[in-house]
Amino acid sequence: MDLSLTPEQESFRDEVRSWLAANVPAEPLGPTSTPEGFAAHRVWEQRLFEAGYSAISWPEAYGGRDADLLTQALFAEEYARAGAPERINTLGLGLAGPTLIAYGTDAQKERWLPGILSCDDIWSQGFSEPEAGSDLAALRTTAVAAGDVYVVNGQKIWTSLGRFADWIFALVRTDRQAPKHKGITFLMIDMRSPGIEVRPITQIN
Ligand SMILES: Cc1cc2nc3c(=O)[nH]c(=O)nc-3n(C[C@H](O)[C@H](O)[C@H](O)COP(=O)(O)OP(=O)(O)OC[C@H]3O[C@@H](n4cnc5c(N)ncnc54)[C@H](O)[C@@H]3O)c2cc1C
Repeated sequence: MDLSLTPEQESFRDEVRSWLAANVPAEPLGPTSTPEGFAAHRVWEQRLFEAGYSAISWPEAYGGRDADLLTQALFAEEYARAGAPERINTLGLGLAGPTLIAYGTDAQKERWLPGILSCDDIWSQGFSEPEAGSDLAALRTTAVAAGDVYVVNGQKIWTSLGRFADWIFALVRTDRQAPKHKGITFLMIDMRSPGIEVRPITQIN
C-alpha cells in the first residue's frame, strides 16, 4: 500500500500548519461551560470559517473543500498538533449540515447551511430523553403541526452545549399511531422559541 502524500495533500498540510501556527490563540479560551468561554470559542470558529477551514469535508457547492478522508485526517492531525481550541459546532458541521446536504430540500439548505458553516448558528442535538437513551425509539417528545408551526412538548437530556446553542435538531414523535421505530421526525428548533426552558446539569468538575 502506498501511504505517501500527493503534492496537493502535502501542500494542504503545510498551508494548514502555517495558518494554525500564526492563528492559534496563545492562551486557552476558557471553558465552554461559561458564557465568556463559549463566546470566545464561537469567535474562533468564525475565524476558521473565514480561513476556509470550517467544514473541509463539505462539498464545494456548499462552502466546503470536498476534502477526501486522508485530507480530513491531515487537518485533524495538524489541528491536534497545534493544540487548537475545542470545536463547538461539531454537531452542526458534522451532523445537521451533512444531513441537510444529503436529504434536505433546496429551501432547507439555503435556510440553514450558511449559518452552520459560518458558525453564526451553533447547534446541539436533542435525541436522548430521561426514559429514552440506548432505546431511542422510546422517545416521547411530540410535535403537532398547527398551521405554519409545530407545537412541541417533551424533555430532552444530555444535550451537549445546549445551554448556549442557537438551534437544536431534535427527534420528535409526529405520528403517535405508528410503531415505535416509525413516526419520528428530525425537527430543526430555534432554541430561542417561546416555551423552551434550558436547565444545565452541573458537573463536579
Ligand atoms: C458526554 C456525553 C454527551 C452526550 N451528548 C448528547 C447529546 O448532545 N445529545 C443527545 O441526544 N444525547 C447525548 N448523550 C446521551 C447519550 O447518547 C446517552 O447517554 C446514550 O444514548 C445512553 O442512554 P442513557 O444514558 O439513558 O443510558 P441507558 O440507555 O439507560 O443505559 C444504561 C446502561 O444500560 C445498558 N443497556 C441499555 N439497554 C440495554 C439492553 N437492551 N441490554 C443490555 N444493556 C443495556 C447500557 O449499555 C448502559 O450501560 C450524551 C452522553 C454523554 C455521556
